[in-house]
Formats: sequence, C-alpha cells, structure tokens
Amino acid sequence: MYFDSHAHVSGFTDPEPLLKRAQEKSPFHIMNICTDESTLEKGRSLAKRYPYFHNAAATVPNDLKNISPTMLSSVEEAAKKGWISAIGETGLDYYYDYASKNLQEKYLRSYLKLAFTYTLPVIFHCREAFQDLFQIADEESAHAHFPAVLHCFTGTMQEAEGVLKRGWHLSCSGIITYKKSDLLREVVKNVPLDRLLVETDSPYLAPQSKRGKTNEPLYVLEVIEKIAEIKQIDPEIVQEQTYLNALDLFSLHSSSNI
Ligand SMILES: [Zn+2]
Repeated sequence: MYFDSHAHVSGFTDPEPLLKRAQEKSPFHIMNICTDESTLEKGRSLAKRYPYFHNAAATVPNDLKNISPTMLSSVEEAAKKGWISAIGETGLDYYYDYASKNLQEKYLRSYLKLAFTYTLPVIFHCREAFQDLFQIADEESAHAHFPAVLHCFTGTMQEAEGVLKRGWHLSCSGIITYKKSDLLREVVKNVPLDRLLVETDSPYLAPQSKRGKTNEPLYVLEVIEKIAEIKQIDPEIVQEQTYLNALDLFSLHSSSNI
C-alpha cells in the first residue's frame, strides 16, 4: 500500500496508463490536485471510476493572474457536494512574482475560509514565505489547530518546526533524492515519520533516477526508498506509515479497504 499525496494527474491527456502502472505495483491511493475548472471536472470523472482516486482543488499562487472568475465558487460547490477531500494547493510563493503578494494573500484567506466552512484539510504550497503563511493561517484559524500539509516541503528545520507545532504534516517529493539536497535530507531525518507524507507532484519533479523525464505516481516509491535510507528503516514501514498518515489527514479510512 502506498499513497501519492500530491499529483496533477487530471492534467495529463491520458492518465489511465500511468494509474494502471502505479496500481499494478501494489494497491495505492492518489490525491489529485485540481488547479482549474477543467482539471477539476476531469478529476471528478476519474474519481467516479477509481475508488482509490481522490481530488483536492484550489488555485496555485503562481496561477492567480489567470484565475477564472468562477473558480472559487466551483471549488465551493465541489466542497459542498463532497467531490473533494481537501482544499489545495493554496498558499504563498515569493520565489516567483507571477502574482502580487496581496493577490496571493487574498486567495489564501478565501481558500482557508472554505476549508474551515466545509471542514476540509488544507494542502499548502509555500516558497520563501513561511512567516507570512504562518501568520495568515494563525489569524484565519484564530490559532486553533486545523489539519494541513506543506506539500513539497523544501524549508529549513526551523520552518519545519513551525509546521509541526501547528499540528500539520510535511510532504516529501523527488527533491529529497537530488544530489544537492543534503540540508533537506537532514530536516527529513529529524521529522517524525508519523508527520510525513510522500508525493510525486507529477508531472513535475521526477526523482533522481528519472530526472528530466515526466514524473508519474509510481515514482513515489523512489521517494519512499530515500526516506527509508535517511531514517535507516525498512522501506515497507515508510510505505505503510505514510499511507496511514495520508488516510488520517484526508479522512479516507472508509475508502481504504480496496
Ligand atoms: Zn502541485
């Protein structure tokens, strides 16, 4: 059993072969991240066909300039009707400046409100913006704990502590397998296994052995292997624990016996 907690599969022209490849290896679940109305629509139809296929929806901070005027209400409808299991990815990205900080903050607050209204966990995207993200999340939640994950975490140990302190999870992507990621591997070593998720972020961020290729859910196994190596434990334990962590975070236990 394994769980790719973050992949943009409904953006692929034909996602079925890569879902089949992942499923053939071992039973798996996937959180598909819908970033606009067309990927949300396609994600919904895949979820109808495959019980292991789950959807989240929101707008990536870097895409906000081109957001459709009806996207927020489409995500709200999806939340209301139970079509999505999480709100995300939303957050702040100060590495790129495709969208102003004000615009990013405005949508982050709106998506957080949606998550709280419909009691859904949040998938955060955060790059070089942890202090602001923490502050906005604390304000919106009135300092109450709420379930969330920092997808594709690439921050420092201090930033990881800010994430853990709030009761959130951290998700490891193929970046932890790259040669230059020694500092990040040190962070992963110090984060308890019960607070880690794994992801591919397909089609982006293929792990080291597949670098330069299109990423796909099956390759999350390389991320799992790397965590096992860092923590010097059996990969099966990492597989099982990150699978259970994701089921917990996204409240998916009822769909787990497939
Ligand atoms: Zn993503």
